[in-house]
Amino acid sequence: MQAICLGLKRKGRKIAFVPTMGALHEGHLSLVRRARKLGDTVVVSVFVNPTQFAPGEDFARYPRPLSADKRLLVTEKVDLLFLPTASDIYSTDHSTFVDVEEISSILEGAARPGHFRGVATVVAKLLNVVCPDVAVFGQKDGQQVAMIKSMVRHLNFPARIVVAPTVRERSGLAMSSRNRYFNQEQLSRASCIHRGMRAAEALAIAGEEDPAKIEAAARSEIEPTPGVRIDYIAILDPDDLRTLDRVEGKAGIFVAVWLDGVRLIDNIIVRPSRRGRK
Ligand code: AMP
Repeated sequence: MQAICLGLKRKGRKIAFVPTMGALHEGHLSLVRRARKLGDTVVVSVFVNPTQFAPGEDFARYPRPLSADKRLLVTEKVDLLFLPTASDIYSTDHSTFVDVEEISSILEGAARPGHFRGVATVVAKLLNVVCPDVAVFGQKDGQQVAMIKSMVRHLNFPARIVVAPTVRERSGLAMSSRNRYFNQEQLSRASCIHRGMRAAEALAIAGEEDPAKIEAAARSEIEPTPGVRIDYIAILDPDDLRTLDRVEGKAGIFVAVWLDGVRLIDNIIVRPSRRGRK
């Protein structure tokens, strides 16, 4: 794969890369379409990365509908699909890991120890194999985006990182491969996450600056939903994930909930310029 990609680059092709874990949906496809606009050759990887799942998480049951994924990628006219096995990526003596400290220790990192070390390591390896000019990631995984941007800067990867907006169902629920675990009734309950974030956003746009009050607005929308347990609702700087004392500038509302045993994450970015302020 590396030889193929380096060969393409020698011919002057600009490679745009979309790494995924498969079970593709419109969110992934929006990244592919963005990549198409950014490069001449679009490379998509499908790899369910074992090192980012902790023991007891859903690695074994993570959906792997490969034939359907391939059909979607053919429809999107993707140039190359990189479909490595775990042993292609991790040799038996693999013992080198990338750890983006601080950003990896909070939110998802606190709830899923080792998760971001696994993500950073596999993304670093994929960037070294595919050698893209640009790699496209989704805002849906807001903490992951912040971590990857830091890693690329800290380790001087030559790739440009582009972030694409979150694609949602009509209910507002962010599209996710894990939504396949749910039936219609569960999907409808899951939409409380989006309602909660929008309630928080509305309060912030109306002029509320206290992060605790903004968080409470989201909580009161999400918490009463049956089967839902909130892990966190955090109002943070979306770029470096630092705590905000006041919501005056751009703010990220980050949410993680458990719904009937499935962990769902989402976030939106609130922009103060839209406030109805004097
Ligand atoms: P995954 O297959 O879940 O690892 O996701 C692969 C890429 O697709 C990541 O950059 C995700 O952030 C992105 N992605 C997942 N869901 C969405 C969505 N609903 N909208 C936009 N991007 C998404």
